[in-house]
Amino acid sequence: MRRVRDVLDSAMLTNGRHVREFEAEVAGFLGVGHAVAVSNCTVGLMLLLRCLGLRGSVVLPSFTFMATAHAVAWNRLGIRFVDVDAATWTVDPDSAAAGAVGAAGDAVAAVLAVHTFGAPCAVPPLSAVAVRHRVPLLFDAAHGFGAKYPDGTAVGTGGTAEVFSLSPTKQLSAGEGGLVTTNDGDLARELRVAREYGNPGDYDSAFVGLNARLPELSALLGRASLAEFPQWLERRRATALRYRANLADVPGVTFQQVPEGALSSAKDLTIRIDESHFGMSRDRLAACLSAERVATRCYFYPPVHRQRAYRQVTPSVSLPETETLAASVLTLPLYSHLSADVVDRICEAIRTIQQAADLIGESAPVGIGAPDPTNL
Ligand SMILES: *Cc1c(COP(=O)(O)O)cnc(C)c1O
Repeated sequence: MRRVRDVLDSAMLTNGRHVREFEAEVAGFLGVGHAVAVSNCTVGLMLLLRCLGLRGSVVLPSFTFMATAHAVAWNRLGIRFVDVDAATWTVDPDSAAAGAVGAAGDAVAAVLAVHTFGAPCAVPPLSAVAVRHRVPLLFDAAHGFGAKYPDGTAVGTGGTAEVFSLSPTKQLSAGEGGLVTTNDGDLARELRVAREYGNPGDYDSAFVGLNARLPELSALLGRASLAEFPQWLERRRATALRYRANLADVPGVTFQQVPEGALSSAKDLTIRIDESHFGMSRDRLAACLSAERVATRCYFYPPVHRQRAYRQVTPSVSLPETETLAASVLTLPLYSHLSADVVDRICEAIRTIQQAADLIGESAPVGIGAPDPTNL
């Protein structure tokens, strides 16, 4: 509260000392050249695509949060949804390679991959696709803060740039906020102009920017969170491991595979339900858990290409793995202060529901807002 008061007393409410120090602390923590703080991840992605001066279409997954695609659409770039890998749930490099080829008159502009649920993407094969087409490789790292690539470097150092979210559901939060990280000094400079309306300081705007500044109070919150972050990350990872160990032998429950040697940020703990082995559908399990007062989310359902805003954009796209995955994933509670006892009780509930699947059936009323499968 003293530091909050200091900010208020300073009368410097946005883009001041705490933003600069937060940026330096983040760059040091990740081991990256530059971190540019912005007001959220969505505008960070929008400004990144704008600053790179892209033309054509962006290759990206549909199995992601809608904002990944929105940033592309706001730049009036084409959308080329590609499929995810069945095991890692991140962009399938073969699908990205096929998607990057595209059609005559529609050049690929960039590859935008997502570190889904905190598991780092397979960078070398994605990088090969980007190099082959001479386009930047970018990452929506909204889930990735604290994750490590197999070579031990931090998520945030990959590709041309990575963009983090500091919104309240993410593992490092500033209330709202985002961070664009890059080793490209020119790009970082351009982004700092972009977040100030494209005004380089002389009120002669160089391009169409946005107001994407991070408020000082948010930066202060971000700095305080960063100081505690290593402990919180350890707790999240321990909690994720506990879920995995507890549920390992439940029929029909599988987990996201993290690439060999990589470390997930454990942003989410999402399980995949194979209905034929589990004995009931993902939606039915979500309803049963809700009845047991366990709140779950269907991240990501519907996948972006099935959402109303995108159905007409990519009507003929075929993404078989995305379709089955989106229909079978369920995200369980995971936060840094979740107790082991509660995790054990949630796992016990899942086990009990699975064992009683035949008795519970699929048809009785559930009375909660489970997603309507007819939306697909
Ligand atoms: C949360 C999230 C975003 C958007 O982040 P904001 O900071 O809320 O704009 C983008 N992409 C993914 C994958 C996300 O989960």
